[in-house]
Amino acid sequence: MVLDNDRYVLSGGIDPLELVEQFGCPLYVYDSAIIKRQYKRMSDAMNVKRLRLNYACKALSNINILKLFRSMGAGLDTVSVQEVSLGIRAGFDPQDIIFTPNCVSLEEIAEAVEYGVKINIDNTSILEQFGQAFPDVPVCIRINPHIMAGANVKTSVGHIDSKFGISFHQMPLVHRIVEATGLKVEGVHMHTGSDILDPEVFLSGAEILLNIAREFPDLDYVDFGSGFKVAYKIGDVETNIEELGARISERFNRFCTEYGRDLMLMFEPGKFMVSEAGYFFAQVNVIKQTTSTVFAGIDSGLNHFIRPMFYNAYHKMTNVSRPKGKARFYTVVGYICETDTFGINRQMTELQEGDIICMHNAGAYCFSMASNYNSRYRPAEVMVHEGKAYLIRERENMEDLMRRQVDAGIFEPTSTEA
Ligand SMILES: *Cc1c(COP(=O)(O)O)cnc(C)c1O
Repeated sequence: MVLDNDRYVLSGGIDPLELVEQFGCPLYVYDSAIIKRQYKRMSDAMNVKRLRLNYACKALSNINILKLFRSMGAGLDTVSVQEVSLGIRAGFDPQDIIFTPNCVSLEEIAEAVEYGVKINIDNTSILEQFGQAFPDVPVCIRINPHIMAGANVKTSVGHIDSKFGISFHQMPLVHRIVEATGLKVEGVHMHTGSDILDPEVFLSGAEILLNIAREFPDLDYVDFGSGFKVAYKIGDVETNIEELGARISERFNRFCTEYGRDLMLMFEPGKFMVSEAGYFFAQVNVIKQTTSTVFAGIDSGLNHFIRPMFYNAYHKMTNVSRPKGKARFYTVVGYICETDTFGINRQMTELQEGDIICMHNAGAYCFSMASNYNSRYRPAEVMVHEGKAYLIRERENMEDLMRRQVDAGIFEPTSTEA
């Protein structure tokens, strides 16, 4: 979103205030041009013979987004059999989908096998059971390299206390299971979390994974997961994808020479692909000055947008209704009956009740984490593509809230009471 002649516009010159007018508020808007730019940036950064970027669709799982990724040649990273099913519905070839679950049942993995997708296993217990049930289905093994990505234990998933992956110290057990069951290991995988700031840390994890890869003769791919960070505010460090790409490609190509075959290099970015493409628009309901604070209360809350409250995430905000004006400070809060603070002491042009605020970086883990808490409707979603706006999800209504509820009739007044 940029300022153009004193008003904000999205790509293709689309006016976000018109979208809010047309589709209602609050509203999620995704710009396909930004997703394409990010996909191209990451593809171009890798210089290897065989590359596959599997979009981690839990970040934003609208089927139109999935189809956009398919049209660009991406694969799909999925964490539930429902996401697998979404991917199939979006037209992905099953072999372009990888199922990377954590703590799911063998039954759910068996369903994914039915779909014919790639299977990634992250614990030795399921590996052993899987090997006995499906000795002919090739698998990928998720390794925990015990590295800390950033300082946030909620988003870092490759450290020693994390529930994800098989510790690289357990490789003797993995080999014993593979040997006993006759499993074919076609891939090795790691995913360290969302805060890779330093290519050095990533490369040291990669080194551990390549050491393990060397022990498996039948590999087709090595999957380095994700952890690519984007900037949420001025001064944030983002992953230098060009530098990282050059270094990992060089290292990977050397590995392939040594291994004797061109393996496929895989990544599974979520946030990097869609975060910046998303905008969340909400209306200011109330400006409320208390003894200590000036609150701006908006028509949304942690039900629609939980990252600030759940991860302490910073999302930049703009007063879209007033591109020009005096700058003031506000604590922006939601309408949910919980403390749902979007941001403290945010500087924006002076807000008036009725103004539309934009939260930036609303593409990844925003709509996909939305709920109906407080019996609120989840918002509509719109995709902006080549100068046109498309509704890609309707706003919910009362019917949606009642769907699947069964009024069992236990407490109806009886006729004898009348
Ligand atoms: C969530 C997830 C990703 C995507 O992580 P981002 O930080 O959004 O890029 C990749 N791989 C797996 C296995 C995941 O669970």
